[in-house]
Amino acid sequence: MRNVVIIGSGCAGLTAAIYAARANLKPLVLEGHEPGGQLSLTTHVENFPGFPDGIMGPELIENMKRQAARFGTEFKSGAVTEVDLSKRPFTITVNGEPHQTKTLIVAAGASARLLGLKGEKELIGRGVSTCATCDGYFFRGKPIAVVGGGDSAMEEANFLSRYASKVYLIHRRDDFRASKIMIDRVKANPKVEFLTPYVVEEILSPQGLVNGVKLRHVGTNETQQIELDGVFVAIGHDPNSTVFKGKLNMDENGYLKAGHGSISNVPGVFIAGDVQDHRYRQAVTAAGSGCMAAIDAEKFLEEHKDS
Ligand code: NAP
Repeated sequence: MRNVVIIGSGCAGLTAAIYAARANLKPLVLEGHEPGGQLSLTTHVENFPGFPDGIMGPELIENMKRQAARFGTEFKSGAVTEVDLSKRPFTITVNGEPHQTKTLIVAAGASARLLGLKGEKELIGRGVSTCATCDGYFFRGKPIAVVGGGDSAMEEANFLSRYASKVYLIHRRDDFRASKIMIDRVKANPKVEFLTPYVVEEILSPQGLVNGVKLRHVGTNETQQIELDGVFVAIGHDPNSTVFKGKLNMDENGYLKAGHGSISNVPGVFIAGDVQDHRYRQAVTAAGSGCMAAIDAEKFLEEHKDS
């Protein structure tokens, strides 16, 4: 029987583990299908406080993991396939193996959608990005593209125009999902050129770094190549919450709903990180919410000592 099981090993899950382990709760972290979360897919992180020269995302995650292990956290690889939250202790199944726990912290994260192009994933950190706030600064004075037609794409195009010499906004339709005010703002931005209706057929990277894209016009099928240094894919995120459907409250996009810090609708289950956050999505906000979840779990265990 565990005191705390933490689902997810990104910034939120590992911060929760550090706090829970230091509270002597001997947490178990279930690492999930993307161990280390989104930080493990990025390169240089320059906005995590405490690293004046920046730090590589995978190194930051490895440091957090070592810090959590030092205080007695256990780790298990594999993704959760089943959860029973109908009674305490809860049962969490990974690789066919059930784990019983008095409290559960869900820090399963959200995965940025990718275009599904060949080599795209390998080019993350080499010109392909899913986070303008994280990576925009690296493209100072360079031409880049943002792909997508929702509010995220509009927001990122505007944000990135502060750094980039030129921003191509590439969208597969002439109509946009984004709100009118966001579209108008981007249309008024002289650095942004709209390319619609186009799809990206190929991300060009002859030397292993992005140097262009091949586009196809959806109406005419004509193709063209554009030289650029960065491709920001802004086509939405998917929270990793499927296994909690019907068990934890979530919004229409599958983001879990946390109230009063990390508290869920099931007493003893706490929520942290990007699985409940479609707004901030930053390493530091995920870490903060992981800390809150661990403190909430610790207080819950204290208050339910005898149950
Ligand atoms: P979204 O609204 O779901 O938009 C995703 C966009 O990506 C759509 O334009 C979609 O095209 C396109 N897309 C999806 N899959 C694609 C593919 N495989 N290839 C090419 N294009 C693809 O996602 P979001 O922009 O991340 O926004 C998510 C939510 O957060 C929304 O509710 C949004 O309003 C909100 N949000 C609000 C703000 C704000 O108010 N400041 C900022 C960001 C996000 P189609 O339209 O053709 O399907």
